[in-house]
Parts: sequence; C-alpha cells; structure tokens
Amino acid sequence: GEFGPERPGRVTAHFGRSLDVEAVDDSGERHRHRCHMRANMDGLVTGDRVVWRQANDDSGVVVARGERDSVLERPDARGQLKPVAANLDQILIVFAAEPEPHANLIDRYLVAAEATGIAPALVLNKVDLLPERGGELRDLLDRYEALGYPVVLASVKQQDGLDALHQRLTGRTSVFVGQSGVGKSSLIDRLLPDHALRIGALSEDSRKGTHTTTTAMLYHLPAGGELIDSPGIREFGLTHLDAEQVTAGFIEFHDYLGRCRFRDCRHREEPGCALLAAVERGDIHPQRFASYRRILASLESGGE
Ligand code: GDP
Ligand code: ZN
Repeated sequence: GEFGPERPGRVTAHFGRSLDVEAVDDSGERHRHRCHMRANMDGLVTGDRVVWRQANDDSGVVVARGERDSVLERPDARGQLKPVAANLDQILIVFAAEPEPHANLIDRYLVAAEATGIAPALVLNKVDLLPERGGELRDLLDRYEALGYPVVLASVKQQDGLDALHQRLTGRTSVFVGQSGVGKSSLIDRLLPDHALRIGALSEDSRKGTHTTTTAMLYHLPAGGELIDSPGIREFGLTHLDAEQVTAGFIEFHDYLGRCRFRDCRHREEPGCALLAAVERGDIHPQRFASYRRILASLESGGE
C-alpha cells in the first residue's frame, strides 16, 4: 500500500484526531510526524507509545497503542475523567517559599498524586525569599523527606538548586503541577532554555494549528528526560477522590490500616483505632492526621 512498515513512536502532542508522533529515523535523529488515528482508535494522549506507519510524505497513521505505565486524568467540561498524558514517571509539585505553603495544601497535592500511582516529588521554589534558609518550613520539608518524598529547593531568581532539579528530571518523564504564581513557568523556561527547542517541538502542521496552547506537549530536556506540560496539567489538584483514595494517599498510614478493632473504623473516636494509637505514640505526625481529617471533611462537604 501507500504506507511504510510499522514503526514505534511516541505521541508528543495531540489535537483532536490528529497527533504528533516522534520517531527515530534511519540516521538516528528524532523526527516528528503529523499523524491521524485509525478510525477504530480513540483516546490517544501525549506520552502514549504507539505503532505507526509513514505515508509517502512526512505524515502517517497510528495503528496501535502500547501499554500505559501510568496515566494522568483530568475532569472534562462535563466532569468526566479524561486522560491527558500517559507514561509519566514523576509529578513535581511546586510550592513557593513565599507565601509559605500550608502543610494541608502539600498533603492535598500528595494525596492526589498518590492516587495516580505516579511518584511525586516536592519542589520548593523562591528559596531566595526564605528568611534564614528554613525555620518551620525546613522542618516541615524534612518530615516529607523522612516519609520518602524527594524535596528539591530552588530559586529561579538566584539560579539556585537547578542542578538538583536537572538530576531529578534526567531519565524520567515528568510534569510540573502547582498553584498559580509559584514559578512553574519560570522553572520550565529555565529548564528548556532554548526557546527554539520548544517551538521546534511542534511539527510544521501543528504550528499552523490553533489548539497549540491547550494540548499537552512533550519536550526533551537537554540532559535527557522529558517534560510534559499544558495549562490543564499544571492545574492538577484534588478533584474526584473518594475517602478510600484519601486514606491510601497518606503512605505512612498503610502499616496501620486493617488493624483497627472495627473493620469499618472511620478513625475518628472509635476505641481500638490503630491510626489514632499511632498518632498518640508519635508514629504518625499529628499535622498529617489533621490534614487527613480536613481533606475528608472537604470531600464530604462537596468542595475542595
Ligand atoms: P506560575 O504561575 O507557577 O507559572 O509562576 P511564574 O513562573 O509565572 O512566576 C510567578 C512570579 O514569581 C513571577 O513574577 C516570577 O518572576 C516570580 N518568580 C519565579 N521564580 C522565582 C524565584 O525563584 N524567586 C523569586 N523571588 N521570584 C520568582
Ligand atoms: Zn481506625
């Protein structure tokens, strides 16, 4: 037929039924091809591994999707969860040193990340605004590190901590999430310094397209590793979790779950509650337990 042999590729952007698929060509260079999906295919997202075939020109057709290691979902306009990116290894949750982040907010992001199965890490940006390198915030971050969450301190302004950030990003596919104003754009601009690299990440066709600002895009970092980014991904938060997911999201609770006297223990005032006992002994930090309660309460009241 008019299509070449089946080749492996990875989706680097998606626009409705069109996709940019990146593949390594015969000379070993990465090249992006505007592809469409076979009619029987649906729901491909940025980061997906695919099998595709090239047409006589630069374009092609995607014929199969590979297994997904992970998927990041977001609610659409009707509130239904839709995948927006696939095969992520890491969610970098960005906070700013000023205004100081509340433990509860950090926990909310961690719970949401844990629910995806994608490993979270914390990035504290704007450390140039920290009084004397820490205080209470430093203690707080130490506690997250003790739980096993990597913490990177950075300042885009002073170009501080960017090597550590590069190390975390190398060899992984990552996303940056966090509230507006914490410095995500600044960090990403710094990590992808060559603006041409970002523009060049789009195929000819998509540059002419109109959807370029909303689709998730995959970028290669100079030192290896990939970044997937879009406005929707950055706004990732604590939507659509149930109580079970919230409980599971507090990783240090795992050892105690199933050990309460009552099988349906809600870990409030029940006698023989293993979680409450662990808090009392100091094995679970009271601030984390307070966050847990607050997050559950906010879900029950139907808001964030
Ligand atoms: P985003 O909304 O998370 O993408 O945040 P931006 O990257 O747009 O940054 C918000 C503001 O914080 C901008 O005015 C940046 O110049 C500023 N900013 C970013 N990084 C730093 C930093 O490390 N230190 C300080 N002091 N300001 C920063
Ligand atoms: Zn209990």
